[in-house]
Amino acid sequence: MASKSKFQAIRGTRDLLPPETALWNRVEETAHSVFATFGFGEIRPPVFEPTELFARAVGGETDIVSKEMYTFKDYDISQELQGLWSLVFSARNPNTYDETIELAKLTGRLIAVARSGLESGQLSRTPENLRAIDQIELYSSKLPGLANQGPRETGPAAASLRDAVTDLDLGDELSLRPEATASVCRSYIEHNMQQLPQPVKLYYMGPMFRRERPQKGRYRQFYQIGAEVLGGSDAPGIDAEVIEMVMTFFDRLGLAGVELDINSIGHNAPDCRPAYVQKLKAALEQVKDKLGADSRRRIETNPLRVLDSKLEHEQAIIATLPRIVDHLCADCAAHYAAVKRQLELRGVFFKENWRLVRGLDYYMRTTFEITAKGLGSQNAVCGGGRYDGLVELLGGPATKGIGFAIGEDRLILSLQENGKGAAPQGRDVYIAWMGERAYATAVRAAKDLRNVGFSVELPPTELKFGKALERADKLGSRYALILGDNEVSEGSWTLKTLADGTQQKFTEPELLEFLKRYP
Ligand code: AMP
Repeated sequence: MASKSKFQAIRGTRDLLPPETALWNRVEETAHSVFATFGFGEIRPPVFEPTELFARAVGGETDIVSKEMYTFKDYDISQELQGLWSLVFSARNPNTYDETIELAKLTGRLIAVARSGLESGQLSRTPENLRAIDQIELYSSKLPGLANQGPRETGPAAASLRDAVTDLDLGDELSLRPEATASVCRSYIEHNMQQLPQPVKLYYMGPMFRRERPQKGRYRQFYQIGAEVLGGSDAPGIDAEVIEMVMTFFDRLGLAGVELDINSIGHNAPDCRPAYVQKLKAALEQVKDKLGADSRRRIETNPLRVLDSKLEHEQAIIATLPRIVDHLCADCAAHYAAVKRQLELRGVFFKENWRLVRGLDYYMRTTFEITAKGLGSQNAVCGGGRYDGLVELLGGPATKGIGFAIGEDRLILSLQENGKGAAPQGRDVYIAWMGERAYATAVRAAKDLRNVGFSVELPPTELKFGKALERADKLGSRYALILGDNEVSEGSWTLKTLADGTQQKFTEPELLEFLKRYP
């Protein structure tokens, strides 16, 4: 018999459990209420989308898309079609007459099943699929005639056959979302939100998935709370208000050691960021020999990313590089100055950090990052910025956009490290009952107390009072309500305060009054 395997949560994922989940709930409720006061509404997009959406929005070159996404084919087709497709796709070039005939037969079955898939609607009747099936049929019909002529002739036919098979679109390629901005923009376009009063202000919370190397503060399923402002203008007041909202949220939670870094990364026009990047590149070429391998590579691929380097020996060199703030075009410089003034107006403290950059072209102007205490090297709890070109990149109308994403796991970790974790959850009242009649009263008392919001534990089977009180203590209950047949017939109930062992007698209405006063 197979031994029972012990299942464990996948590496990089974890169960969030009580009492910690109470803190998660407090954080999320605070987000709902603070964001609502800024006029934001909640959006709940699906957790998977076409891979292409993330490839376009996050960037196919980024680590997130190229290495870290959980991607899968979403086939709504029969096992038989999928199986035959894989067999033909992975077939070796035939070497003998028999192998050639075998491949032709296999392909014949694939064609038959694919055609019936077209009939039943399991396979999309797209022009590409119809063409692919025709092609497969063409190459497969050539095989028997070539079977006697050896691999030199059958090889190329088999290769063309495989190409045609790859063109058959069996279904969509999907990915678990590594972030949610792409989904929010997709939704804005899909629901024609540009017709609503602008800007549209949305927030979301939920799990994101990235196959990163797990470590403290870094998970493969992690949670983000984020918001996006889409449409309308790019008035600096919008940037400042979005930042003010995050800071208000952190303040409400009592997050310790919050530091806000801001920067402007200009925009993608010849007189702005690209000109700066050229200057940066030239300066980097000068100091190339003193840089590590990663930074040296980035001089070519993405010079701005060199500024992210955490390598000790590169810091002094980076400090001498040209700064983007000194190379902004007049409009971007004015926008940045206005954002800073607007933050001051709102009493939001910030530090300018010229090394805070983003790697993608559509990111522009305001960029910010917030760090908190107690997180070691993974101390960023929030990243955000302006991305005016993104909606257009995804096929929508030209739309202004700015948003942020908070790492909820790290936010929680920081709150816990600084004594703002959840208080252990106890029951308010444990009902210690003995006897049939007492049980009926206990059930009713539990219902009444729960209706007015108390957390009540009612043991399902009778326990001796000593045992019941012991359990009440272990559960961290505040009170034990003692109901024996005597108490019930006298209509006088005993309430024991577990912290000091004192007992008081009450009638039923008095008890409710007392508990409401001293919950
Ligand atoms: P990003 O979407 O990469 O800009 O990240 C925004 C925030 O999400 C970061 O500041 C982190 O707080 C958090 N975050 C990103 N990746 C992870 C991860 N793998 N595990 C936990 N938190 C993460």
